[in-house]
Formats: sequence, C-alpha cells, structure tokens
Amino acid sequence: MATRVLIAGGGVAALEAALALRELGEGRVSVEMLAPEPEFWYRPLAVAEPFGLGEVKHFDLAELAAAAGATFSPGALSGVDAGGRVVQTSAGSTLPYDILLVACGASPTAAVPGALTFRGPGDTERIRTLLEEIVAGQVERVAFGVPWGAVWSLPIYELALMTAAYLAERGLDHVELALVTPEDEPLQLFGRAGSDAVRQTLEERGIAVRTGSCPVELVDGELRLVPEGTIATDRVVALPRLRGLRIDGLPQTVEGFIPVDAHGQVHGLSDVFAAGDITSFPVKQGGIATQQADAAAEMIAANAGADLVPQPFRPVLRGLLLTGKEPRYLRHDIAGGVGEASSASPDPLWWPPAKIVGRYLAPFLAAVAGVESPVEATSAPGAVPVEVELDPASVRGLAALQWEIAAEVEGEDGARVADAMSTDPLVVAPEDTLGEVAEKMRAAERGSALVADSGRLIGIFTSRDLLRAFAGRVHPSEARVRQWMTVDPIAVTAATPIEAAVTLMTEYGFHHLPVVDDERPAGMLGLRQAVRQVRGRTGIGLGF
Ligand SMILES: Cc1cc2nc3c(=O)[nH]c(=O)nc-3n(C[C@H](O)[C@H](O)[C@H](O)COP(=O)(O)OP(=O)(O)OC[C@H]3O[C@@H](n4cnc5c(N)ncnc54)[C@H](O)[C@@H]3O)c2cc1C
Repeated sequence: MATRVLIAGGGVAALEAALALRELGEGRVSVEMLAPEPEFWYRPLAVAEPFGLGEVKHFDLAELAAAAGATFSPGALSGVDAGGRVVQTSAGSTLPYDILLVACGASPTAAVPGALTFRGPGDTERIRTLLEEIVAGQVERVAFGVPWGAVWSLPIYELALMTAAYLAERGLDHVELALVTPEDEPLQLFGRAGSDAVRQTLEERGIAVRTGSCPVELVDGELRLVPEGTIATDRVVALPRLRGLRIDGLPQTVEGFIPVDAHGQVHGLSDVFAAGDITSFPVKQGGIATQQADAAAEMIAANAGADLVPQPFRPVLRGLLLTGKEPRYLRHDIAGGVGEASSASPDPLWWPPAKIVGRYLAPFLAAVAGVESPVEATSAPGAVPVEVELDPASVRGLAALQWEIAAEVEGEDGARVADAMSTDPLVVAPEDTLGEVAEKMRAAERGSALVADSGRLIGIFTSRDLLRAFAGRVHPSEARVRQWMTVDPIAVTAATPIEAAVTLMTEYGFHHLPVVDDERPAGMLGLRQAVRQVRGRTGIGLGF
C-alpha cells in the first residue's frame, strides 16, 4: 500500500514537495494537501503592483493539486499527535497520516508602530495612496525600514528604489528618502559584490542609507532607532516580522518556528517533516522554501522505498541583482501587459523577478498556470550575478546581530539582569515526561523549567505548556517535554541591561526569561523582579 503523505499547506513549499514526491516517489506515496485557503498565491510581484509594474496571481489550489498528482482537502492544521499519527484540524476533525509535512508558512505582523507595514498584495492600495500623497505634496519625507527579526530584506530595497524612480519620473526630486536596516551592509546576504552594487544604486537614486540600526517606532515625525538616533520623517514603510502559527504537539520557537534537521525532519519526532517559512531557518524566501521542500521530499521518498540517496538542504541564493537603470527588455514581461505607460518606470532589483526558482515548481507553473519565465537578463547593465551558498552559521549570525541591536536599548549604565535574576533555575531533560516535570515544578514551586541537553539550553517549558498539553488529552507518562517545550528560547545574559530584558518580556508577553552563560542555563529572570528593578526609571514603555 502507498505511504500516505499529508502536506499541511498549499503554498510554495507544499506544492514543490507534492511535485517532488510525484517525481521521486516511484508510485510508492500518495499525497493529500490540507490548507484553509482554496487558492495558491504567487506573490513575487507584490512589490511591483503599486507602481503598475506587475500583478500578483492566484490559482485554484484543488486544480493545481490534481495536476500535481495530489488530492486537496480544505482545513487548517491545529495539532499533531505524532505517536498516534493523526493531525487535528481547527474544525475539530482528525486526519490520519503515515508521514506529515508541515508547510503552513508564516504570518506577517506589524513590527514598527506608526509605520505602514508592507505584508504583500493586501497592502498595494496603501502604497498607492502614499504615492498619491507624495505627488500631492502632503508627504515630503519617507523612510523605509527593516525591523529586527526580518532577515530577508530585499522587498524593502525594491520598494525604496521603485519609489525613488517613480518620483524622479515626476520631477519630485526634493522628496527625502531614507532606508534603515540592521544589516552591516545593504543586502548583506548577497555578498560583497551585491552589497557594493546596491549601495551605489541607492546613492545614485538619492536614498540615504543607515545600516546597523533598527527602526523601532514612528512618533510625532521622528523614527526612533536602536541602538541610537532618530530620523525625521513624515512616513515609514516597514517590513513585517514573521511568526509561525502555534501547532499543538510540535516543538516551536518563541516566534512559532519549527526546528528541523538538514532533511527537514522535525527535531525529536519521527515521520514529521517541515519546510518553508514555518521552519526556524531565518531566511524566509520562496527559493529557499522550495530547496527545503526538495530535501524533505527526497527523504520521504527514500523512506518509502524509492531508490535514491536523499541530499541535505543546502541553501543557495541564486539569481541576478539588477542595478542598471535601463534593462528595458525586462519591462514587457514584468509589466504583464500594462503597456507602454510603464516603459519609463523602474525595474525590479532581483532576477528572476516573476519566478520563484523551484526545481519542480517553476516548470510546473509555466506549463499548468501560464507563469512564464521572462527572457534572460544576464546582459543587463549593472547586473551582478549572485550565487551565494548561505552558511547557516552566518545567517544565524545576522539574525543574532539583530537581537543584539534590539537588546541594546538604553540603560548603558543602569541595572543588569544579574541584579534581578534567580540563580537556581529548575532544569529538566528533553526526554522527561510531562508527569515528571509537573511533579518537579510543583515540588520546587516554579512556573517554568529550563530544558537542557548535554548542559546546553535547548528549550523552556512553562505551566502554560503543561495546560496546553493536558487540554490536548496527552498522557502524562507518555508525552515528552521535547514535544511541548518552546525550542531555542530567547535568552539573555547576566550582563544584559534590565530595560532590554523587560522590553523583550513585554513585547512577547513572557513572564520568564532564561539567563544563559555561554549557552548553559545560568538563571531565570521573572517579570515581577525585573520590573521592580526598572521601576522609576524612564524611557521604557511597560504597557501597565
Ligand atoms: C510581498 C512578498 C513578496 C515576495 N517575493 C518573493 C520573491 O520575489 N521571491 C521569492 O523567492 N520569495 C518571495 N516572497 C517570499 C515567499 O512568498 C515565501 O517565502 C514563500 O511563499 C514561503 O513558502 P511557504 O510554502 O513556506 O509559505 P506560503 O507560500 O505562505 O504558504 C503557506 C500555506 O499554508 C497554508 N496554511 C496556513 N495556515 C495553515 C494551517 N493551519 N494548516 C494548513 N495550511 C495552512 C496557507 O493557506 C498557504 O497555502 C515574497 C513574500 C511576500 C510576502
């Protein structure tokens, strides 16, 4: 009998995985896709839409699934019982599986209060309105911002450059444009050549660049930055911060992302895989999502008996950075029939512009849905080829750099976490059962426990997780902490300024924050103790 693969999701990673399994599975797998949204959204041209340079497309998911050899069931995954090999949906039904692939994507949330958050197609109109206000003379200064937590920053560069070109075409050269990013260099992930090229392009188009800074909030015409400074501006356009959906029974990070190994297997669970934006790999991009889906599909096919050696996920950013001003031959395809009116308009920065480079998805969409690949762009003036194998350590380093910046909030000379933390945290093991840990928490009168593996902090488990698990009717002597803890929790060190710790706790709604010393659990900071330390100090919004 065929192995039943259930794919939760109907986006880029889900469709690539279904196609890869059809190709590699040798008829040994049957694929069912489960998603709440009956359409497949093809979003790459969302940034071009407000400028009339392209359209976001969507397709009937049931039809695409059928063409990919899969079935489609409407529904939203809400929980996983990995032992029983069934999933729960938010409508209360259950679905059995042999192998589960979670590809539910991520939800964009606003990260900079006061800013216009650009999430995608739904925000096209707001960008159009902003352009109209600029043209009408109501707005004279616009800043574009990458908040901490967003590692894929390309869309904000594209929006800034397209806005600059749009205004230049209308002779509105006096409008001040700025771009703020926590990256050390513009588009840092793209390597030195890419960064240099884009910096020069930003300069040529009159966009002031501030690197190493996070936009925090826009208040009374001032965009506050961390670690320091402000920018005077009328409007801010910011990228969102992404979060993963909470799914009972799966290990997830604080932001809801699922940790996987190089073959997409969810840490600590057998026969459960994840791919795409919902995984804890920090770069959230379609091409990367398809590479993860391919790695998972190869492993699933091999486990089902197909004759192949599964290759691990090797993240590669491949394409061209377009910085020249006149690559006119792209225009026809990008304009998508908009016509000559757009011929003087700016071009996208990234090639291929209208295509997510998936090994199986790209040719499938071209054949089934008519999403054609545009003509080659290799001779575009100023084009910089990018083929960067993303080293997970450096990507994580970029994410960590942002955390450091976020943590450097004021308080240079003030109290530190060491002044308020407890130094005897309850530490448990990932394989402890929920019953054992509940007993330890009761005996020690603690509301949370740190989870350590070989002395290294790998998770935090709180009484809230315990309630969640018991509400899901798990058995206390069978369910393990590993399945219900928050993995890779946000942690601070004893030297972190107390204000930074409180900011993190209020931002995320935490009552406890682990304190580490070189990855080892060293203590726990409680919100009450932390607030006591900062009480009376100024410059921090606690919200109560
Ligand atoms: C404005 C914008 C422009 C972008 N431009 C590019 C680009 O040019 N190139 C590029 O490579 N990438 C681009 N991306 C990023 C790219 O779209 C994502 O990285 C990619 O779609 C991630 O794929 P995914 O399958 O993980 O998630 P998605 O494609 O978002 O799919 C998630 C799927 O899960 C479903 N789902 C949600 N909740 C549940 C649930 N509970 N149960 C089951 N299913 C669920 C959703 O309905 C959806 O079908 C862009 C993104 C945005 C927002």
